[in-house]
Amino acid sequence: MEKTIFEKIIDREISATIAHEDDRCIALHDINPQAPVHLLVVPKDRIARLAEADDAAAPLLGHLLVVARRLAAELSLDQGYRIVINNGPDGGESVPHLHVHLLGGRRMAWPPG
Ligand code: AMP
Repeated sequence: MEKTIFEKIIDREISATIAHEDDRCIALHDINPQAPVHLLVVPKDRIARLAEADDAAAPLLGHLLVVARRLAAELSLDQGYRIVINNGPDGGESVPHLHVHLLGGRRMAWPPG
């Protein structure tokens, strides 16, 4: 299977601004930020999307949220932030490699577009 853009970043074949890395995930700055802070928390083991994560992935999924929460605190997003996972065509997914968006630094609208 061809590598996703995020696998190429994890393997250092493509450069990115990496904000965090551990044994299970990386966090990088989005190349097309939708807010003053826009990070992507990406598992190193490729799962295409949330719908394809099995129940055994629960600890990994939790870890992605814990990392997002830590990064939000480190970045002093004390007025709040938004966590987004786009799943499939209706969800607006463009990269078939699960990732958690962390958006902050501005007031978000609701409902999302
Ligand atoms: P999604 O639409 O939820 O699949 O999100 C994919 C995100 O990946 C988008 O916000 C893109 O801007 C971002 N993206 C795509 N290519 C890169 C890249 N090379 N480095 C950083 N972010 C990227």
